[in-house]
Amino acid sequence: MKAHAAAGTEGTENEKHGTVGAVALDAAGHLAAATSTGGYTNKPDGRVGDSPVIGAGTYARDGVCAVSGTGKGEFFIRYVVGHEIASRIAYQGQDLSTAASGVVDGDLAPHKIGAGLVAVDAEGAVCAPYNTPGMFRGWVTSEGKAFVATHETIYEVAL
Ligand code: ASP
Repeated sequence: MKAHAAAGTEGTENEKHGTVGAVALDAAGHLAAATSTGGYTNKPDGRVGDSPVIGAGTYARDGVCAVSGTGKGEFFIRYVVGHEIASRIAYQGQDLSTAASGVVDGDLAPHKIGAGLVAVDAEGAVCAPYNTPGMFRGWVTSEGKAFVATHETIYEVAL
């Protein structure tokens, strides 16, 4: 069971965030992204984070990529992270992994926030860069192979 920070205290990165994101490329070639979050512990009343802001914490564009992010939403909004990754692919010809890591390890890095994302491109390539010690993630390929990981090691699992 996950620990939660007591009201009025600073939580760890793990305690502060509980976001679940999903991206998909379907058999017809359409891309989709979804993000569910409670924001973070002790967030300001009325705050709207990045998850419902299309282009920031959640974004999909057919033919390019789908992105779902987690981390301090104010910065995902500032850098319009999902759209930024799609733009680097569409306009600069970067591959998914380069574009996504470029935003997480480049644009977001100076702000020293925990950040991560899951992404899939129009060819079905997936990536999940993060700058925290670990990030729970998993994916299924079009061949029906499933993988999970929390840190660097990737495990293939039976479906
Ligand atoms: N991105 C979310 C927000 O800022 C929080 C999170 O992903 O942990 O609302």
